[in-house]
Amino acid sequence: MADFDVVVLGSGPGGQKAAIAAAKLGKNVAIVEKRHMIGGVCINTGTIPSKTLREAVLYLTGLNQRELYGASYRVKEEITVADLGMRTQHVIGREIQVIRSQLARNKVAVLQGTGRFLDAHTIGVVHEEGKETKVTAEKIVIATGTSPARPASVEFDDRTVIDSDAILHLDRVPETLVVVGAGVIGIEYASMFAALGTKVTVIERRERMLEFCDLEIVEALKYHLRDLAVTFRFGENVAAVERRPGGALTLLESGKKIPADCVMYSAGRQGKTAELCLEAAGLTADDRGRISVDGDYATEVPHIYAVGDVIGFPALAATSMEQGRLAAQHACGEPVGDMDDLPPIGIYTIPEISFVGKSEDELTRDKVPFEVGISRYRELARGQIIGDSYGMLKLLVSPEDRRLLGVHVFGTGATELVHIGQTVMGCGGTVDYLVNAVFNYPTLAESYKVAALDAMNKMRVVARLTAGM
Ligand SMILES: Cc1cc2nc3c(=O)[nH]c(=O)nc-3n(C[C@H](O)[C@H](O)[C@H](O)COP(=O)(O)OP(=O)(O)OC[C@H]3O[C@@H](n4cnc5c(N)ncnc54)[C@H](O)[C@@H]3O)c2cc1C
Repeated sequence: MADFDVVVLGSGPGGQKAAIAAAKLGKNVAIVEKRHMIGGVCINTGTIPSKTLREAVLYLTGLNQRELYGASYRVKEEITVADLGMRTQHVIGREIQVIRSQLARNKVAVLQGTGRFLDAHTIGVVHEEGKETKVTAEKIVIATGTSPARPASVEFDDRTVIDSDAILHLDRVPETLVVVGAGVIGIEYASMFAALGTKVTVIERRERMLEFCDLEIVEALKYHLRDLAVTFRFGENVAAVERRPGGALTLLESGKKIPADCVMYSAGRQGKTAELCLEAAGLTADDRGRISVDGDYATEVPHIYAVGDVIGFPALAATSMEQGRLAAQHACGEPVGDMDDLPPIGIYTIPEISFVGKSEDELTRDKVPFEVGISRYRELARGQIIGDSYGMLKLLVSPEDRRLLGVHVFGTGATELVHIGQTVMGCGGTVDYLVNAVFNYPTLAESYKVAALDAMNKMRVVARLTAGM
């Protein structure tokens, strides 16, 4: 008899949902987690702190109110890291309590320490004082996540040259900031600091950023960020970062030298598998620390599963949770469905971006015809009321069967609004549903109806001309 039916390594979104799903199926479950990390990267250093920081920035700077009250409007003149940190710490504290309470209610044992495999069914839990406890399990779920990748050539000091973990512990809001890497995390932080008044320079090796997003929306984001004094250096490589008294010099291969108070590297993430002693269980990880799994999230050792960021793309809290639930159900012999193949993407830049389904570029590449329906917030009463004149919603509609092929939203509430489109798409709905539906007024959701009518009108013109031929 094993000590537990299921042992989960890591209490981030993937681990939590795996543990709770197994407990709901009546299993005896334990979760192994290091001290001070309940909730994982999601709660402690990633999603929740960054999204709370964004909310604090938007509130304190009054940025979203300036269209109505003027360019000088601010809630607080001098915004300090204490102002920002207060809200972040409050939310983190509350979220940790919620998770602890959910685990306790579901009778999931929390074993504090670093887990490692001793064999394929035995986990050693190394406590802070170095003592090791052994636990055995029928099934094991690895949900140990990732940490920021740190290029060996760069000397990080957590003050001047930092990664996305250390940015939460700066002792002051920098006047100038270099962000290396224009991925989601890099651009989210670039936009938050730009909103605070920091002069930000973004350096990106590729010629474009957020290539998986709608091009028109990325262009709109770039325009907004430039308006907040962000400088983009695309197609540039960092040759070296030199720490100097009072700041750092970023030297580019092109010969440019960029001075800044602080340099944040956002250069991808590394799977946290080094401490796991995977070989003791007959497992391996790739050079980025990732573990490969099959469609049920089982590793090559069938009773050991892996979920969340440690298995790689898409590496989101949203998808990690669902992978955890599905893996636990499979491990416990419960019938499972597949994860819906319409995952939404939310990017919490300022302004925010969200989409579901295909982009114009993808459809064009695949030779799938589509019509575009657009609604601009400035033509919606709600857009005027909230002072958002730049927001837009774009529907990509199939002229053949009128199904929605993609929904792309930019501006206030984008990450919430996208779910209306996701639901219509997921239920096989067509643009006709949106044309005929009555939406609350005045809302931003009304943009779906406006965009649907726009697409219908364009399709009608094509149909008329085609019929007349
Ligand atoms: C700055 C930032 C912003 C983000 N924003 C978003 C967002 O807006 N939306 C979104 O969906 N996603 C976002 N993400 C991604 C999201 O945080 C991750 O996808 C999610 O946290 C992954 O969950 P996980 O369960 O795989 O692992 P994690 O949350 O990384 O948790 C893994 C846990 O395992 C523990 N662990 C590791 N090794 C061991 C061991 N040997 N023994 C015991 N415990 C161990 C760690 O201490 C950690 O607590 C963001 C990430 C970052 C960094």
